[in-house]
Amino acid sequence: MIVQIVAALTIFTIFSPSSSAPVVVKESEVAFTIPTQVEAQPILPVQFSPETKVDLVEIDNPIVPVSIADLLQQTAASIATNSADLKIRGLEITQGIQVFNEPESPRCNSKVSHPDHIFCNNSMPLVAGRHTLLRLYLDCNDNCPTGDILVQLRVLKDGAEREVLTRQVSAATLAQVNGRPLQELRLNLGNSVNFEFLPPPDWMSGQIAFEIEAGSEQETQALLNTSQNFAVRKPLRVAYVPIQYQGVSPTEVPDIDHWLLRLYPVSEVEYFRLPVPDVIWDKELNKAEVLQELLTIYWLYTEQQPVEAWPDQLFGWLPQEYYNGGASDPDWCPNCAGPHSSRVAFGGLRPEQDIGGPRILVHEIAHNLGAKHAWSPTQQEDDQCFRAEGADIRVDPTWPYAETPYIQEIGIDLYSSPPIIYAPNVYDMMSYCTHPWVSPHTYRTIFESNLLEPSLDSPAAFQPENGAERGPALLISGIVYPDGTVSRPEIVQLDQAGQRQIPLTTSTRGDHCLDVYGFNNDRLGQYCFNAGFLDAETGLPTESSPYFFTLTNVDLADVARIELKKDQTSLITITPSANKPTVSLTFPNNGEVIRGRQTISWTAADADGEALIYSLMYSPDGGQSWLPLATHLTEPSYTLETSSLTTTAQALIRVIASDGFHTSAAQLAAPFIVEPGP
Ligand SMILES: [Zn+2]
Repeated sequence: MIVQIVAALTIFTIFSPSSSAPVVVKESEVAFTIPTQVEAQPILPVQFSPETKVDLVEIDNPIVPVSIADLLQQTAASIATNSADLKIRGLEITQGIQVFNEPESPRCNSKVSHPDHIFCNNSMPLVAGRHTLLRLYLDCNDNCPTGDILVQLRVLKDGAEREVLTRQVSAATLAQVNGRPLQELRLNLGNSVNFEFLPPPDWMSGQIAFEIEAGSEQETQALLNTSQNFAVRKPLRVAYVPIQYQGVSPTEVPDIDHWLLRLYPVSEVEYFRLPVPDVIWDKELNKAEVLQELLTIYWLYTEQQPVEAWPDQLFGWLPQEYYNGGASDPDWCPNCAGPHSSRVAFGGLRPEQDIGGPRILVHEIAHNLGAKHAWSPTQQEDDQCFRAEGADIRVDPTWPYAETPYIQEIGIDLYSSPPIIYAPNVYDMMSYCTHPWVSPHTYRTIFESNLLEPSLDSPAAFQPENGAERGPALLISGIVYPDGTVSRPEIVQLDQAGQRQIPLTTSTRGDHCLDVYGFNNDRLGQYCFNAGFLDAETGLPTESSPYFFTLTNVDLADVARIELKKDQTSLITITPSANKPTVSLTFPNNGEVIRGRQTISWTAADADGEALIYSLMYSPDGGQSWLPLATHLTEPSYTLETSSLTTTAQALIRVIASDGFHTSAAQLAAPFIVEPGP
């Protein structure tokens, strides 16, 4: 899916190379520490003045807490008691975005599974391990108390007290907030009594009870208790790989991932370089081809790795001056790769003005996690937005906020220090607008992604269908062009040697079908799809073309032909040729030391005279693990750049030659030595 930064009718806006290097804003890493704030000020509504930053500091002289255990009763529902003078309006528990209105929105549906549950107060899912802020709003009844108010928070898990915190509120502060609209109070941290868990203790998961007692020296008491569930979500693992486009490398690709942690309902983000060389891209950029390449790398990599080592997402970074936006491949996209995707995306680095590279990363990966577009105005309607006139960006049909691109509620960035508050008219990150935050709808959608299911052993997206057995799988990919021609499908057999379990793909819907036949003319597998030639992001015709990609549990040895049809008319048929290709490595071949740039070479032949395509795999550990080194090579050589590899005396190379159907592989018998130096 594309984020269009500049109004343009093409889905890919590719700039000519500029003479100056792109400006890249380097931002600090976040891992349960509060980074230096580098973000621009959020956009505040005109009726509110900009946020006064309030440092969250502990009160120095905590009072001796009055036990409230015997005052509180069994109820778990919000406010238990308000005194004659002191009134508790409510407790907002936020980790980034929260719904908290007075009165509660009439659209609130208390049934958690109902889409309108997101209109209920405190309805945002809370994630164990995520920075958490409790904001208590106080008010007065008939008279405001004249002395200081002491507020005590008890935190309990399984009935046992885990923490007691106290805060002091002056009578003057109370008089200041008294009677003001809640939405106004929420825009400034100085207007609430704050209990911060930055970072939260590790026991703060599952059901947690919060008991609050507030009172003045005149013994007036206001009580509130509530319990909240802190759900465990899997840490998000995002791998990236730089894409060298026509000799130009993207700059500064690490350390720009912290927006993922700020905006997603996850407790941890691992962002790491996939241990493969840069992707080399010398052709024109074509969305389908880049995604296909990334998907091939993703599957070749994961096939060789245990499940624990899999990234959830693979992101390709292009040089910013060549690429102005991003693309992804979510499984809900009708023209995308289907049920086995939702794993890859790419984009260009952008300076922090505009949406910025980090936020392109956030937007594209959110698509893969299930989020669709927010409604967005055109650039003519709102100069902070960049949807082109006439472009249909395929707004999420369940976008619940009518024709507005805003987050609707008050957001807070608890991963900045001091925290930054985002007003309700800040744009949602799935809109085509600048400086976004996240709406309750988008936040909840991402929370529900099965890619964040906590069970590592069996990622939900890869559960086999009932009764499906593990077996060899074919990965078939190709490009369908708008003029009706198709590329020759590329076939890779995955042996499922790792822990992966691949479900059968059977889809009978779509105008194009890929059929796999056995020797008795029996159909071994079918995958149908629509090649609509409309970009799923913009609804505009694609100059690049959709592609297909499927997996079946078919052994290549059983396949007599593979046929791609459109509306029952055959577009291309592939049959196995009589002979497999032959291949053998020529260099290295004798335990050489490889340093800097060295050319790996091999010889290959095909008795049927078919053109061969090669993939290279690299093992740093004598064949225990294999990494994709290069794919789609048409020449029998590859220049290895050792600077991206680690020193090893156990390096091995495997070359896989494909005639389009059959593959043959050659592997070095003896390891060679890699030294990363120049
Ligand atoms: Zn998008």
